Amino acid sequence: MLRLSHDIYQALRRQGEETYPHECCGVLLGRSSEGVNTVEQAVRAGNTRTDAAHNRYNIAPLELVRIQRDAALEGLDIAGFYHSHPDHPAQWSQTDFAEAHWIGCAYVITEVSQGRAAQTNSFLLAGTTEEDKRFEPQAILVDPA
Ligand SMILES: [Zn+2]
Repeated sequence: MLRLSHDIYQALRRQGEETYPHECCGVLLGRSSEGVNTVEQAVRAGNTRTDAAHNRYNIAPLELVRIQRDAALEGLDIAGFYHSHPDHPAQWSQTDFAEAHWIGCAYVITEVSQGRAAQTNSFLLAGTTEEDKRFEPQAILVDPA
């Protein structure tokens, strides 16, 4: 289960509308345990994939290190990642799967259809290693504002 506040949920969906027709991406900070990813903060990240920003996303390793270090100071960890799919369904792609390495983290995808946020889905990267990792659909629980 992915658990987040209404404000964070709206913010990451709106970000996909702002960057349309390009993908947006960011990091979800919070805690993960027993398949429950609790989000306390969403941090926007720059999309470094200028070659195909409409269907690829990537967060620069140095930026990710900085985000994780800042989060640790507040007692938070990386609980997941989010990005948008402009005019494509909110389902993970083979590229998304190949580039997902944070086992136990949530991968949230929002379909942005003609500039408007549509479906948002979350997938838990389950497994124990790079060899047996897999995406499992997970419920999204949005706490009222
Ligand atoms: Zn994707």
